[in-house]
Amino acid sequence: MSPRSARTKGTRFGTTAVHCGPGPDPATGALWPPIVLSATFAQEAPGKHKGFEYSRTRNPTRVALEKALADLEGGAHGLAFASGCAAASAVVHLLSTGDHIVAGNDLYGGTYRLFTNVYARFGIETSYVDTTDLAAVKKAMRPKTRLVWVETPSNPLLRITDLRAIAALSHERGALVAVDNTFATPALQRPLEHGADLVVHSTTKYLGGHSDVVGGAIVLDDPKLRDDLAYLQNAVGGVPGVLDSYLVFRGLKTLAIRMETHGRNAERIAGFLGGHRAVERVMWPGLRDHPGHGLAARQMTGFGGMISVVLRGGLEAGLRLVSGTKLFRCAESLGGVESLIEHPASMTHASIPKAEREKAGLSDGLVRLSVGIEDPEDLVEDLRQALRPDRA
Ligand SMILES: *Cc1c(COP(=O)(O)O)cnc(C)c1O
Repeated sequence: MSPRSARTKGTRFGTTAVHCGPGPDPATGALWPPIVLSATFAQEAPGKHKGFEYSRTRNPTRVALEKALADLEGGAHGLAFASGCAAASAVVHLLSTGDHIVAGNDLYGGTYRLFTNVYARFGIETSYVDTTDLAAVKKAMRPKTRLVWVETPSNPLLRITDLRAIAALSHERGALVAVDNTFATPALQRPLEHGADLVVHSTTKYLGGHSDVVGGAIVLDDPKLRDDLAYLQNAVGGVPGVLDSYLVFRGLKTLAIRMETHGRNAERIAGFLGGHRAVERVMWPGLRDHPGHGLAARQMTGFGGMISVVLRGGLEAGLRLVSGTKLFRCAESLGGVESLIEHPASMTHASIPKAEREKAGLSDGLVRLSVGIEDPEDLVEDLRQALRPDRA
């Protein structure tokens, strides 16, 4: 059971998750938000309308999702996007040529690709540092640093960054702090409570929860920043479709119980892998020997369902494991009800050059697991058979 949060309507998270969003439709009493596919809305006279003009600008189903996302993060405002990458783009669009970003060096490969291969061409430069090292973050800051981008737990090394300390440091220099909260979700960590300005999500993952929709989101408190981002959401146009908005909304309702099960299963699997002789190192913030364990225990209310593992046999053993599991499907993405396994160096993080990956500690032998909500003993048996040295 998670503690009450002053931000989340005064209810405990499990209750907030079920009741998030606008509540019954005032026109019909429908408990669930109407799926309004209309691209445009009739106006009584030019400019005289019921708050909706055109669905890129504002759509009732999307507004319901945005309200629900804000409720879950305990933020004043939510904005939904077509993907996590579209949400990240909107954040960068707050900046101008000559501005500078400090970002974690262990982050989603697509975010690295976006910052380095796209926005650098527009004169927005990014420095990558280990955000768990505050001195390194401080050193990377420049007078033109406007944004500090943090992933915690990070992807794929599950490092834990001290959000309160990063927020204090960044605000002192006048930079905004954006936290990619995709791995933790608001069920386990609410960055706005720790001083972040913007929470960013790929709703494709745990928030949607069923690997059947691609989406993104930003949640925040500041009304001026909200207006700037809503302006960009409309002007740049990376908005989610109406049916997709509904699917994410539906996923949110079971987030609390799913995250509880993901975490419990991950604990069982981290324990199993830690005791296996083929395994060199297990990375899961819930393990006592994880360097960020103490901080994670203070900053989060659970340790999540993502595990990374380095095998003694290096790259070859890693690739063998990824192709040898049966329940854990070899696939990109994470956060769905089903367990997935992948090899970051050749899959999700292939867009980061090898030298950069190694500098950040992401070895070619690393395997990442998204632990699903199946029976944990079946998952352990699957990993055990895939790790057998005599397996053909
Ligand atoms: C998947 C992911 C993204 C990108 O989201 P898309 O919905 O795939 O665009 C960003 N950050 C993290 C941590 C992710 O896992």
